[in-house]
Amino acid sequence: MNKEKKIIFNVPKLFGNELKNLNQLEQKQFSANGYYTQKCRQWLIKNVKCKDAHLVHSCTAALEMCALLLKIKPGDEVIMPSFTFVSTASAFALRGAKITFIDIDHKTLNIDANLIEKNITKKTKAIVIVHYAGVPCEIDKIQKISKRYNICLIEDAAQSILSKYKNRALGSFGDLATFSFHETKNIHCGEGGALIINNKKFLKNAYIIKDKGTNRDAFNKNLVKKYSWVGIGSSYGLSEINALFLYNQLTIAKQITFKRIRIWKQYKKFFKILEDEGKILTQSIPLHSKLNGHSFFIIVKRSIRNKLINYLKSKKVMALFHYIPLHSSPFGKKVSKNKNKLKFTDLKSESIIRMPLHLDIKTNDIIKIKNLLIKFFHKVNNNTNL
Ligand SMILES: *Cc1c(COP(=O)(O)O)cnc(C)c1O
Repeated sequence: MNKEKKIIFNVPKLFGNELKNLNQLEQKQFSANGYYTQKCRQWLIKNVKCKDAHLVHSCTAALEMCALLLKIKPGDEVIMPSFTFVSTASAFALRGAKITFIDIDHKTLNIDANLIEKNITKKTKAIVIVHYAGVPCEIDKIQKISKRYNICLIEDAAQSILSKYKNRALGSFGDLATFSFHETKNIHCGEGGALIINNKKFLKNAYIIKDKGTNRDAFNKNLVKKYSWVGIGSSYGLSEINALFLYNQLTIAKQITFKRIRIWKQYKKFFKILEDEGKILTQSIPLHSKLNGHSFFIIVKRSIRNKLINYLKSKKVMALFHYIPLHSSPFGKKVSKNKNKLKFTDLKSESIIRMPLHLDIKTNDIIKIKNLLIKFFHKVNNNTNL
């Protein structure tokens, strides 16, 4: 029998204290906007250095709130990369927006900042950037464009908690930003997310949109005499049970991030030999950036990508790929405004392999994967230089 240990792609970590004070919630509340929601909110305000933060049930919910705050209506246009998770686009498509998908930078797989300006029209209402794998976009360049054209900038920072650009946390640059606390992210509570507000014009309305279109928050703060239905909104809050869970992870977020970065660096070190031989490309850290160790990916020749994933699988190593580019997905085609050719999006989405990265990954696992890669490239002979 083959007793070799499986190297799993992601293990949502439990540190043991997540529900430590659950019975104390009984005297308080289990629904949203209670004590632990406040604690998480304060953590976010302090660590992201934002004007306000809302705990919500997913990053998807936070993105939907962005579209509502911007009053996106049918015919409006939103610029974003195609190489991202569905929610980045679906939140805006839900309001009837046309999506202008643009290509990615071939190194970071983040939106190509040089392509944004020429895709702006009179109808453009937002630029949504995604810091892929926790690696910052070219924020300076993009902020300048958003200011010059007076178009809102939104950071989908789902993967980017505690990553930094010029020593400032990601999520603090856009008018609005979103985080995910889904179990596949660095810090999690099963399902969860946050909406970050940096532009004060959105401060008040965010409470109404989050709370079913009511002014209950103002009522709770004694700012109005009764609470009623005052606008559109939905039920976006996070249950206190999840908020408690999340808060207990946030209190050790820096240690978690430190450990992930250590694993990321080990991949980088052990895979160097393969990169030097031209077999793979690995991520590099852009100027002024501090990563959070969210994800480590490699780029291989398109023609061998699936073979290599299957080979690793046969050796009990779970390596994965994503995304099917949104501009070529069935619904993405319907909502996209332009038919831009997205060369690097197409190429990279078919050449990327994401390595297992979670806190149970050991140095020996990484060495084992490296040796498997060497073996694989030996087998497929010398025609595989990139
Ligand atoms: C994970 C992720 C989301 C969705 O997060 P949920 O919390 O599951 O809604 C959105 N955008 C990006 C870039 C993501 O990685």
